[in-house]
Amino acid sequence: MIVAEQKPLQEIKSLVGEAQRVLVVGCGTCVTVCFAGGAREAAILAASLRMSSRLDGVAKAVTDVTVQRQCEWEYLDAIAGEIGSVDVVVSLGCGIGVQAMVEHFPAAWVVPGLNTSFLGLPTEQGVWAERCAACGDCILGITGGICPIARCSKSLLNGPCGGSEGGHCEVSPDIPCAWQLIYDRLSAMNRLDTLLELQPPKNWRAARDGGPRRIVRQDLRLPAEED
Ligand code: SF4
Ligand code: SF4
Repeated sequence: MIVAEQKPLQEIKSLVGEAQRVLVVGCGTCVTVCFAGGAREAAILAASLRMSSRLDGVAKAVTDVTVQRQCEWEYLDAIAGEIGSVDVVVSLGCGIGVQAMVEHFPAAWVVPGLNTSFLGLPTEQGVWAERCAACGDCILGITGGICPIARCSKSLLNGPCGGSEGGHCEVSPDIPCAWQLIYDRLSAMNRLDTLLELQPPKNWRAARDGGPRRIVRQDLRLPAEED
């Protein structure tokens, strides 16, 4: 899931600026699960902005609404009327949600209410941990299902850096050394020989190094309209 956290209220207020009519838009998917931007958070932020602006002596009209998924245009159509009647939209979706709204409603001024953090896994109640950096060329098949790109602090691909102590990363004792995890797992699975296989250089063009990425599935595209 995409993990995010809410920006401080002061920063959101400064992004809203002098706008009088404000719409806070929550998202019902990833950011609801990580308690950053769902319906509850949208309502609380709207109330906070209302109260805070009143205390500042410039009371704003702040409403809120939540869509099921901000990152898909078809879910945004339902709020087209509300978007058109406000001065600013505060998106409580991830960065994709903000950009989906900007592309779908080009006349609307949309600002982010969240800081989008990483692709993560909820490991226990209230804890989310980074697990994937969306590199576009997944190597989990040769690392025992443990990602060295997202979980090694140096994104090393050829084994540990030598700084690990007691199985912990030299960056912090709170971070397990990814390469220790990989070694332990492959050892437990009796597959350590995997580490001895020569691998071709990783294709970083599939990651950010190749510029903004795009996936096209011709089999899923709609036929071109006949003239
Ligand atoms: S190898 Fe790449 S795609 Fe696979 S989990 Fe790691 S960052 Fe994500
Ligand atoms: S100690 Fe382990 S996780 Fe940390 S940077 Fe070195 S190899 Fe990566």
